[in-house]
Amino acid sequence: MTAQAMAAVSVEHLNKVYQSKERRVEAIGDLSFDVRPGDFTCIVGPSGAGKTTLLKCLAGLLAPTRGAVTVNGREVTAPPQDMAVVFQEYGRSLFPWKTVRENVELPLRERGIAAAERARMVASALDAVALGHVGDSYPWQLSGGMQQRVAIARAVAYQPKVMVLDEPFAAVDAQTRADLEDLMLHLWSKLGLTMIFVTHDIDEAVYLGQRVLVLSSSPTRVLDDVRVDLPSPRTQAHTRVHPDFAELRTRVYSGIQAAKAAK
Ligand code: ADP
Ligand code: MG
Repeated sequence: MTAQAMAAVSVEHLNKVYQSKERRVEAIGDLSFDVRPGDFTCIVGPSGAGKTTLLKCLAGLLAPTRGAVTVNGREVTAPPQDMAVVFQEYGRSLFPWKTVRENVELPLRERGIAAAERARMVASALDAVALGHVGDSYPWQLSGGMQQRVAIARAVAYQPKVMVLDEPFAAVDAQTRADLEDLMLHLWSKLGLTMIFVTHDIDEAVYLGQRVLVLSSSPTRVLDDVRVDLPSPRTQAHTRVHPDFAELRTRVYSGIQAAKAAK
């Protein structure tokens, strides 16, 4: 098998231009990278680097201008069945008139899964994010961090192979963020997911990722591809004070500074 055929996600010479009557924005220049099944890849880059655009192309929500994206061997032309996506604005992604349980159940209903099986899958997803006790609550009755856990439960409920997250913890406080980071590590190791996690937080990228891709400013390309060989399991108390952690964050930080300077 070729490397590409083995990859869970393959991005080949991706280019994306936003074209309107008034202006033309080349958001992604020429982007190529492969993600192996089961890897935890973090993506960082300056604001406006095209990270969200990239994820929308991966998720089949935007068509590439040139190049292609492949998920589990199939070229993406519509939202892939085996991929889950979590965006930053979870407040807007949950339905306030539906309970937590109904929100998590929605994608399962859309897939035509039978009621008994749905109930089992929802319960297991809510347990996985430690929200088994709030299934009958409404999203607006919960804190920001809990709402984001509902969005994550909804994403894992239908057992995707690939999970894509766009700055999912940008709007929560530091302690909640640390808890959510550990939840991601827990879900990743428990469910064997391939993770693609976009963040603007360098420490978060190094803490979570086995690999950090540093993107340039638009038109985007890959500036650096950093392997993170920190010992596992990672813990907030030990990983962040590991000598290699400081070295890795400096390398990623320098990459982003270089990207900004080249703008
Ligand atoms: P990031 O997520 O890294 O901050 P985005 O993917 O949101 O970057 O944006 C990349 C570039 O594309 C920016 O210059 C942004 O202004 C532009 N852009 C994003 N969405 C659109 C759109 N719908 N129409 C035109 N330009 C857009
Ligand atoms: Mg973005």
